[in-house]
Amino acid sequence: MIKQVSCSYCGAEESILLVSKKTTIAGPIVQCKKCGLVYVSPIEVDLEEFYRTKEVIPPRSHKDGPNVNIRYLVEREWKNKSFKKRLEKIYGLRKTGVLLDVGCHLGFFLDVAANQGFQVQGVEPNPFNAAYARDELGLQVETATLEECEFPNSCFDIVTLYHVLEHIENPIRLLQEIKRVLRDDGLLVVEVPRFNSASRRLFRSRWRSYQIDHLTYFTDSTLQAMLQAGGFQVVMVDYPGRYMSLNYFISRLERIHGFTSRLAKAVVERLHMENLTIYLNLRDIMTYYVVPNNDKEKLNP
Ligand SMILES: [Zn+2]
Repeated sequence: MIKQVSCSYCGAEESILLVSKKTTIAGPIVQCKKCGLVYVSPIEVDLEEFYRTKEVIPPRSHKDGPNVNIRYLVEREWKNKSFKKRLEKIYGLRKTGVLLDVGCHLGFFLDVAANQGFQVQGVEPNPFNAAYARDELGLQVETATLEECEFPNSCFDIVTLYHVLEHIENPIRLLQEIKRVLRDDGLLVVEVPRFNSASRRLFRSRWRSYQIDHLTYFTDSTLQAMLQAGGFQVVMVDYPGRYMSLNYFISRLERIHGFTSRLAKAVVERLHMENLTIYLNLRDIMTYYVVPNNDKEKLNP
């Protein structure tokens, strides 16, 4: 199944090849000749099938099921540290309200936000992830995409979109739907990999954000343009790092240098340092804090 894709920002079909197809990407990565957006085209893998089988956590038997994403559950302590840091940024801009996390995965971020005092809800299309968030964490999570939920207008104070926009075929449509469900004085947080980062150029084809289910590779300027097209204006930008265990760091090193990774793993296990906390910031992730741009509508009623 090969799916030819046109630019999701300007609709143009002419593009130039940037990265040829590799196992870690869904197809060749191209750049729109007209607007500069970087995206995958044609898409050469069946993404519906990919999502059906990826990171499946059976709701009841997640502790010993065959498809458990153990690594993610084991890393929860460090993931939560990273989420707390993101929440501090949000808290600096909005201290209360109803927060919706779109693509909430297992619900770890929502759990952290609920503990901070926000009223939280999530949407997550993967049924097993959504069930985990509901059953194990007791969160209010719909098994659906945002569009499928058909929320009323202006019912959320904060919407978060962590590592979601790069998976979406039509990012502008999703942003417009978020704008509809967000209050006029609401806040949207969008976090995606940063294509114009030094670490992407340094790691080349081994860059960690070349992932099979990433369809768009945003730079600061194409993300800004996309957000503006969706009806938002930027209030703050952050290039956050993340916390991880030393064990996890070493396992990620495998992708860059297998031998070093195995050697380090042996040393660290010997010294019982697996659970040491590392904070790593490669500045290849960007978080945009944006608000609805309501002026335009007032000018053109
Ligand atoms: Zn374009």
